[in-house]
Amino acid sequence: AVQIRNLSKWYGSFQALTDVDLTISRGEKLVICGPSGSGKSTLIRTINALENFQKGQIIVDGIELTRKPDAVEAVRKRVGMVFQQFNLFPHLTVLENCTLALRLVRGIPHKEAEERALHYLGKVRIPDQAHKYASQLSGGQQQRVAIARALSMQPDIMLFDEPTSALDPEMVKEVLDTMTQLAGEGMTMAVVTHEMGFARQVADRVVFMDRGEIVEHGPPSEFFSNPKELRAQAFLSQIL
Ligand code: ATP
Ligand code: MG
Repeated sequence: AVQIRNLSKWYGSFQALTDVDLTISRGEKLVICGPSGSGKSTLIRTINALENFQKGQIIVDGIELTRKPDAVEAVRKRVGMVFQQFNLFPHLTVLENCTLALRLVRGIPHKEAEERALHYLGKVRIPDQAHKYASQLSGGQQQRVAIARALSMQPDIMLFDEPTSALDPEMVKEVLDTMTQLAGEGMTMAVVTHEMGFARQVADRVVFMDRGEIVEHGPPSEFFSNPKELRAQAFLSQIL
């Protein structure tokens, strides 16, 4: 579903990604890990055209991502994104948060947008919170709303950037459970996370990044028990 070839990206003169090659197949669950500053967020933000890039190629469902507005729009239509900070509008209700883009970006009529949003709020198991303000929910509930909001756009692939890092420990599980459920339904997912239990249980493949490069990748069973690269070994010894 996603092909990344020879991708390099600079912020000014600083090179944040160097020759990244990565394919995410349809239905695949990919976990991306690596030390702080290694380029994980940059990589997934680039896939969604939230960052531009200078070299290489990104192809999403056969559409090459260029700077042309048409290409950006077509790619964003297929890619859902969930951030560490949930980025909900606190002064809107849960339902309004989930229907806003459906109505304004997709032009879906009010009633249909609400029905669709309620369907996905049901999936993340908070249909009863639909009429509360986002600011009245717990962090775990807010993140599940953010997932429902992204799913309401009916993307082909979901990108997560440390979705549980801003949560109190007791709320991490409910969000990981939601993601595990989504994985079980066959969604294509790329997840930046240090939740290695989740990676072991759900990932088909783990990618380890350091200094803007993919240093190692493999199935979780191999990566966790037998990391080949020194940098991966050092990283794992710190977080496990
Ligand atoms: P973390 O685990 O802390 O979230 P990360 O792996 O997601 O780290 P990135 O946020 O992708 O890392 O950053 C990669 C590198 O690019 C870092 O050195 C960072 O300082 C730099 N960087 C990120 N965003 C910008 C920006 N907007 N302008 C300049 N440099 C940036
Ligand atoms: Mg990051």
